[in-house]
Amino acid sequence: MDNTNEMQIIFDSRPVNEGLARVTAAAFCTQLNPTLEEVADLKTAVSEAVTNCIIHAYEGKVSKIEMKCRLDGKEFLVDIKDHGTGIADIKKAMEPLFTTRPDKDRSGMGFTFMEAFMDEVTVESQPGKGTTVHMKKIIGR
Ligand code: ATP
Ligand code: MG
Repeated sequence: MDNTNEMQIIFDSRPVNEGLARVTAAAFCTQLNPTLEEVADLKTAVSEAVTNCIIHAYEGKVSKIEMKCRLDGKEFLVDIKDHGTGIADIKKAMEPLFTTRPDKDRSGMGFTFMEAFMDEVTVESQPGKGTTVHMKKIIGR
């Protein structure tokens, strides 16, 4: 039986769209019958990734963010992509408490939350070209 489904949205990197992305990912996932906790987890992870695109990748300038969601069996997969500044040292960026924007009241915990709330988080990035965050969560384990 084919149990896959896909969707994609492209939206402006405006803070108001962080809520849009979060709710869209949660709505798309409902066909897997997630628990409230699973929904809260993936919303937090999506929110952190999108906020990073808005603040770090585009530094407040308005450009495009792409969110691609896929369901495959019990897996929920989401890719969040920007064409912004990119990350020079991904390993360092993912360390707890590492931030390049302490001036903006950032705590450096975004990637740590994504890793805590999802089963897999991988980051691809090229300085000057952009970043894609791939995340996976198994629903109903
Ligand atoms: P917090 O998420 O706690 O508010 P933060 O955003 O600095 O703080 P992380 O989300 O863990 O912390 O990100 C760590 C660092 O990785 C950021 O400070 C930034 O330098 C870099 N980074 C993360 N996402 C992106 C992105 N999409 N484009 C460019 N740089 C990014
Ligand atoms: Mg962050």
